[in-house]
Amino acid sequence: MLRLFLFLFLLLLSWPPVSGDAGATRLDVGGPPSKIAVIGAGIGGTATAHFLRQHFGPEVQVDVFEKGEVGGRLATVTVNHHDYESGGSIIHSLNLHMQDFVKQLGLKYRRSVAGKTAVFNGEEVILEETDWYLLDLFRLWWRYGISFIRLQMWVEEIMEKFMRIYKYQAHGYAFSSVEELLGSLGGSGFINMTRRPLSDSLLELGVSQHFIDEVIAPIMRVNYGQNVSIPAFVGAVSLAGAQTNLWAVEGGNKLVCSGLLKLANANLLQAQVTTVSPVYSGEIVQYQLSFNTATGSGSELYDIVVLATPLQTSVASGVKFQGFSSPFDTLPGEYHRTVATVVHGYLNTSFFGFPDPRLFPFASVLTTDTPDLFFNSAASVCPVNISAGFRRKQPQEAGIYKVFSPQPLDKAQLKTLFRSYYSVQVTEWQAYPQYASGQGLPPVELHSNLYYLNGIEWAGSAMEMSSVAAKNIALLAYHRWNRQTDMVDQKDLMHRIKTEL
Ligand SMILES: Cc1cc2nc3c(=O)[nH]c(=O)nc-3n(C[C@H](O)[C@H](O)[C@H](O)COP(=O)(O)OP(=O)(O)OC[C@H]3O[C@@H](n4cnc5c(N)ncnc54)[C@H](O)[C@@H]3O)c2cc1C
Repeated sequence: MLRLFLFLFLLLLSWPPVSGDAGATRLDVGGPPSKIAVIGAGIGGTATAHFLRQHFGPEVQVDVFEKGEVGGRLATVTVNHHDYESGGSIIHSLNLHMQDFVKQLGLKYRRSVAGKTAVFNGEEVILEETDWYLLDLFRLWWRYGISFIRLQMWVEEIMEKFMRIYKYQAHGYAFSSVEELLGSLGGSGFINMTRRPLSDSLLELGVSQHFIDEVIAPIMRVNYGQNVSIPAFVGAVSLAGAQTNLWAVEGGNKLVCSGLLKLANANLLQAQVTTVSPVYSGEIVQYQLSFNTATGSGSELYDIVVLATPLQTSVASGVKFQGFSSPFDTLPGEYHRTVATVVHGYLNTSFFGFPDPRLFPFASVLTTDTPDLFFNSAASVCPVNISAGFRRKQPQEAGIYKVFSPQPLDKAQLKTLFRSYYSVQVTEWQAYPQYASGQGLPPVELHSNLYYLNGIEWAGSAMEMSSVAAKNIALLAYHRWNRQTDMVDQKDLMHRIKTEL
């Protein structure tokens, strides 16, 4: 812990201001691009628009295409005049891009409202948080030995290495692939972590199977709807997301996306891009984007295009590539379906072994990987706007709960979890990749000036991962455009940066 603080302190001391980025200080080789398109206005696309503006300057036209809502997988549902996050909801305190966006946009951190967590195995609660931190630590030690200390140290070491990215990016360095990016942060160890199962890495570390089954598996289920055979790298991202130092944006996380679009002075086009095809004139390549709007169809030429939406083989984003070999050939797989059901009602605490709801002390219930258990988690949730007098509803009162499950809940399942309810709102997400070990990572560069952001999700899917990829693509596009090869895929960056200072 001390090491981490020291590292952060040093990082802050050497943090160059955003305006000091390499893009702004280097000489342009040719003319600047005149038009750039970003496809998708989720956090990845809007952050890309913002960083592109920073690097390419005020003159370039930045168009962002969005077929649905700005925010993408950052979205809310309204219950009883209050909004609740239905997609990406929590942000780690060390997610520096997200922090920086919130600061630049003048947004606020949402106040966190304490609540205890339990783990349920389908029959009974097997692990419960108490009001006493030391008692919780003692119980963990009693039940699992030192597994949790080993785990904590492992996650911290990975985060410490991952945080090098902020320094590299602040100095203007870019990477042409997700493998290059991860390799620069954690060497072959990080790349291997995208290929081997989490459970193997943890067992090798000395974490017990008992701890994996009762603590790690529930965390993977709530964060990624999957089990401990997901790759170790995304497993570590998920474990970082289970720490206590988490936050969210007051008013809803999607406000970051609309704010970034404004900050970037980007044009939002409500349109679904259908085709991207290269158009050559001599040595120059541009990209023709065809798109459909509510009123008709159109097409435009762009110098640079960033695709900031997941590509999948079956449920494609609707984008087709013409005139060059399709990147679909190299996609590792499909996205995982997670259903978010927001229920306004009375939790059936008897189902968890607490017939008297007044004695049910938990705000969140995670679940073990038990066959036939139809949900991954159920939690009492707070609205995106928290007033000063807000308090969590007690289990004997009607409250707002969010249930994550692999399938939509049927009536019987709803009746199992809730004594009665007033309303049910269902959002079916193609939420994050369906992870398996040995999948490989999709390319970032699809063509000369055509980039793909969401390949990073196959290493780990989170708002900050999309933001890191956004900064990387803006830098990469800038360096490629200006033929600055010495700023791409450089080795031994820690050493280089030290000697640059
Ligand atoms: C239920 C759930 C819970 C999650 N929890 C967390 C969490 O707690 N913390 C966290 O950090 N992350 C979480 N995540 C992951 C996080 O939400 C995503 O990693 C992140 O939002 C991805 O952003 P993106 O911009 O890369 O993609 P998206 O948000 O998917 O944005 C892509 C956009 O492109 C648009 N689009 C698609 N095709 C086209 C087209 N042809 N033309 C024009 N537009 C198009 C889409 O409409 C969409 O708006 C969660 C995700 C889900 C679903």
